[in-house]
Amino acid sequence: MSHKVVIIGSGPAGYTAALYTSRADLAPVLYEGLQPGGQLTITTDVENFPGFPEGVIGPDLMERMKSQAARFGTDIRQGYIQKVDFSKRPFVLNDGKEDLEADAVIVSTGATAKLLGIPGEDHLMGYGVSACATCDAAFFRDVHVAVIGGGDSAMEEANYLTKFASKVTIIHRREEFRASQIMLKRAQDNEKIEFVLNTVVDEMLTHDDKRRLRALKLRNTQSDEVSEMPVDGAFVAIGHKPNTEMFAGQLDMHDTGYLKVHDGTHTSVEGVFAAGDVADAEYRQAITAAGTGCMAALDAERWLAEQE
Ligand code: NAP
Repeated sequence: MSHKVVIIGSGPAGYTAALYTSRADLAPVLYEGLQPGGQLTITTDVENFPGFPEGVIGPDLMERMKSQAARFGTDIRQGYIQKVDFSKRPFVLNDGKEDLEADAVIVSTGATAKLLGIPGEDHLMGYGVSACATCDAAFFRDVHVAVIGGGDSAMEEANYLTKFASKVTIIHRREEFRASQIMLKRAQDNEKIEFVLNTVVDEMLTHDDKRRLRALKLRNTQSDEVSEMPVDGAFVAIGHKPNTEMFAGQLDMHDTGYLKVHDGTHTSVEGVFAAGDVADAEYRQAITAAGTGCMAALDAERWLAEQE
């Protein structure tokens, strides 16, 4: 079956691209992917998406975006694209069951925050544990929070958190930092930030209600000494991974795996466009993802018109 536009991914970028391409009568097909709704489905309140003065729950926002795209006729499919062939036109994509052809493809597969994979982490995500300070810092006013990591993200998140939290502890597994000197110094100079080094978090512990974070179980990597650090929040900042494995060898990427784009959202293959976190290591916001989703739809629409 041949389609004008196939959109891969269902975060704010994918749904916005779907909204615009469906309103442009391009009858888009959108594959939801492995995490329908994307990263916003693992946050609670979203207070920085314009148009929601009272805030909106992440999964609700994504449901609204989905129904808006569906209202204009987007063919929203569960499942995920497992293979693409961008070497011929029309492009060929496989969803595990069948091949489908597409004149244009919008890649909005997003990025995944790396997590520690320790007990308690999954269960407490959104209930004291977060992987995004910009999204959740404001919920941690006048309390003690920890940031785990030793790169620029950890330093940036820790500094940002000091606007709200009374104390921020950076927990890093080594003594040396991957963070740039300037970011590290800014954190070191901040009176609200303290460092705990050569230390890993082995477990996230709950209050009796099992619903909220109470403390982190720490282990010193040199002495093996185990301790508990009471905290109200823990921010995992050990990096993100763009979901681009499937495009290796087909689309140009930066060393970090993020897709390279030029002139808006054009990738290295004409007719393939990228939107959202998959091509954005810097801003990574729902609103910027939605913005580039709109751009990718307009770029695809113009490109398709030029082909006719
Ligand atoms: P990163 O540079 O890869 O640093 C990840 C940090 O997490 C490292 O300190 C690493 O420890 C630690 N880590 C990784 N896995 C861990 C685990 N399982 N347990 C405990 N610790 C773990 O990632 P990033 O900080 O997200 O930065 C990514 C890129 O974005 C960088 O190029 C950075 O410069 C850039 N960035 C720039 C800015 C800015 O300029 N404003 C802000 C944020 C990010 P080890 O060092 O021991 O491996």
